[in-house]
Amino acid sequence: MGQFDLILLGPPGAGKGTQAGRIVADYGIPHISTGDILRAAVKNQTPMGLEARRFMDAGELVPDSVVIGIVKDRLQEADTDRGFLMDGFPRTIPQAEALDATLDSIDRNISRVLAILVDEQELIRRLTGRRICRDCQTPFHVAFNPPAREGVCDVCGGELYQRDDDSEATVRNRLLVYNQQTEPLIDYYDRQGVLVRVDGEKEPDAVYEDIREAVGRP
Ligand code: ADP
Ligand code: ADP
Ligand code: ZN
Repeated sequence: MGQFDLILLGPPGAGKGTQAGRIVADYGIPHISTGDILRAAVKNQTPMGLEARRFMDAGELVPDSVVIGIVKDRLQEADTDRGFLMDGFPRTIPQAEALDATLDSIDRNISRVLAILVDEQELIRRLTGRRICRDCQTPFHVAFNPPAREGVCDVCGGELYQRDDDSEATVRNRLLVYNQQTEPLIDYYDRQGVLVRVDGEKEPDAVYEDIREAVGRP
């Protein structure tokens, strides 16, 4: 049990969501994206969504207590028995410590943390051209990874949209927040001996090959 307990770490725009689609299809583990869960809460105007929205719009982090609660609840579900892929969580040291404590209490541990690394100028180009499927959340890019039909998801036919926080000003703040609060997690997991650095500037398929190499075959 818990053979593939995986974390995708990396700045906004590194390609976490893009790689997550490939990983969960091959490894048969659930994709746990705190960003997707929070955006669904905002859309449904739940109390949590109403609280989270102002942080997300400003490109700031939602409070630790909120996201830690989301992840603890999600890990109770039966589909995480054979593993999980965390995408966008943890993002702070307290979140990482809370995850360690939760996994400890159910006798599991992280198998690999994949840190996808990309130069900052490239991140800005990726985020400002990103389009997301409203229905299945698959990311596309107007130039680097365009859908076959403009505005339409290749995977499910859903409508593509641009996230409010993918404007250049908000992107710059998100990158700043990443450098200050999330980047220290690279050292944190390196010390635990589970970190693998992945060159995120290659083509998506080549990045995925490196990930498969690091994680081991499903
Ligand atoms: P993250 O989840 O880390 O924020 P995404 O997977 O949403 O990143 O990717 C950000 C943008 O960059 C999307 O528009 C995506 O299509 C594009 N992208 C992802 N991986 C690559 C890559 N290897 N090369 C070029 N563009 C990419
Ligand atoms: P990206 O694709 O750029 O990496 P996400 O979809 O993961 O972005 O996150 C979008 C926003 O949701 C973040 O800017 C932040 O406001 C909020 N968020 C997502 N995950 C977390 C988290 N683990 N801790 C705090 N805030 C989060
Ligand atoms: Zn779709």
